[in-house]
Amino acid sequence: MHHTVVLDFPTLIFATVCLAVFLGVFLIANWVKQRDIGALAWWGSAYLIGAAAIMLWGAPDQFIKVPSVLAEAMIFVACGMFWNGLRLFYGRRMWPLVSFAGAIAWVLSSPLHDMEDGSPQRVAFGVLIVAIYTFGMAFELSRERRRSLYSRTATIAVPLLHASIFLLPLALRYFFPDAFATRWQAVFAVEALIYTVGTAFIVLLMVKDRHVHFYRKIATTDHLTGLLNRGAFLEAATSMHASQSSRGEPVTLLMFDLDRFKSINDRFGHAVGDSALKVFAKVLQESTRATDVVGRLGGEEFVAMVPEAAEDACIVAERLRVNFQAAGVTIDNIAIGATVSTGLATTYKAETTLDSLLLRADEALYRAKNGGRNRYICADEEPGSEPARARWAARARPEAVKSKWAGRRPKAAPAAAG
Ligand code: GH3
Ligand code: MG
Ligand code: MG
Repeated sequence: MHHTVVLDFPTLIFATVCLAVFLGVFLIANWVKQRDIGALAWWGSAYLIGAAAIMLWGAPDQFIKVPSVLAEAMIFVACGMFWNGLRLFYGRRMWPLVSFAGAIAWVLSSPLHDMEDGSPQRVAFGVLIVAIYTFGMAFELSRERRRSLYSRTATIAVPLLHASIFLLPLALRYFFPDAFATRWQAVFAVEALIYTVGTAFIVLLMVKDRHVHFYRKIATTDHLTGLLNRGAFLEAATSMHASQSSRGEPVTLLMFDLDRFKSINDRFGHAVGDSALKVFAKVLQESTRATDVVGRLGGEEFVAMVPEAAEDACIVAERLRVNFQAAGVTIDNIAIGATVSTGLATTYKAETTLDSLLLRADEALYRAKNGGRNRYICADEEPGSEPARARWAARARPEAVKSKWAGRRPKAAPAAAG
C-alpha cells in the first residue's frame, strides 16, 4: 500500500455542492427581500453557477457527461461574478465583461492546450485565472476603508488564505506531477469546500456590517439637518474631551442659537424655518474641520466641540457668525437676514463634565443674546483651571502665553451693521 485515501472525493464534492446551493438560495432570497443590495443577487448566482459547475465536473461519467472545459469555465464565471458583486457592493463601477473574461479566455484557448485533464499548462492557466480573480477580490476588500477594522482584517485574510491554500497544491502538482496523480481530485474537492465556506464567511460578515452601519447611522443622525443628533453628539464630544485631556490639551464647546427664530417661523412659515435650520447646518459643517464634532441639540440649537483653547475657538465662532450672516440674507429666495448667537466654554481638566461645560456655554450664550445677538461670548474661566491651563500654555507655546493668554479673555465680536 503506497497511500491511503483519507478524503472521500464524491462525498466532499457532494457536501460542497449542497453548501453552495444553500448559500446561493439564501443570498438570492435575501436579495428578493431587500433589492437595494444588488450584490446579493450577483453572489447568490455565483454560488449557484459554482455549485452546478462542481457537480458537472465531479459527477461520475455515467450520469452526466459534459466537456470539462465548460464546467471549468463556469467556475471562472462564478469567481468573476463574485468579484463583480464586491465592486457593486462597495458602489464601484461594475465590469460584467471582465467577470466573464476568464471563462471566455478558457474556452477560446481550449483547443490550444493539451486536452488531457491534468496537463501542466492547463493547470497553470486555470490557476492563473482563479488567482487573478481572487487577488482582485482581496484588492477590492483592501480598498474599502469604511468598514470596521475587525471585519476588514477578516475579509482580507480569508481570500489571501484561500489564495495560498489554492496555489500551493496546484504549484506542487505543477512541479511534481507524478506524486499527485491520484489525489488531485481530492485536493480540488477540499479546495472547493474551503473556497465556498470562506467566501460565505466574507459575504455574511459584509452584509451584517452594512446593516449595523445603516442602523447606527439612523440612530445617530438628525433627520432634518443630517448632523449628529443630541445623543450622538454628547457621545462624540465626551470622547474628544477624554482624548484631549489625557494629553493635557483643552476642548471648547460652542453652543449656537439662531436669533429671533420664532419670528422667522411666524412671519415666513415653518417650512422656511426648516430651510434656515438646514442652511445653518450646512454653514456649520463647512466652517468647521472634519475632526471637529458638530451636532443639533434640538430645535434651533446647535453645538460644536473643537480641540482648541478659547482663543482659537473664537476664530471658529466668528467665522461661523460671518458665514451664516451671509448665507442667511436670503433663504428660499425670501429676504430674511437670519443670524446666530454663540456661547463658548473651554476646559483644560479631565474631571469637567460635559453637563457643566454645556451649562457654562449656555450662560455665555444668554449673555450674547442680551448683548444684542449676532455675536459670540466666551464663558468665564472655569474655577480652578489655572494650573492646568498654565501647564498647557507653558508646554504648548511658551511665547503665546505672554502675548495672548496673560489673563485676557477674548471679547465679543462687534455686532455687524445691518
Ligand atoms: P432668540 O433670538 O432669543 O433665540 O429668539 P428665538 O425666537 O429664536 O427663541 P425661542 O427659543 O423662543 O424660539 C425658538 C423657536 O424655534 C420655537 C419653535 O417654534 C421653533 N422651532 C423649534 N424646533 C423647530 C424646527 O424643527 N423647525 C422649525 N421650523 N422651528 C422650530
Ligand atoms: Mg432657542
Ligand atoms: Mg433662538
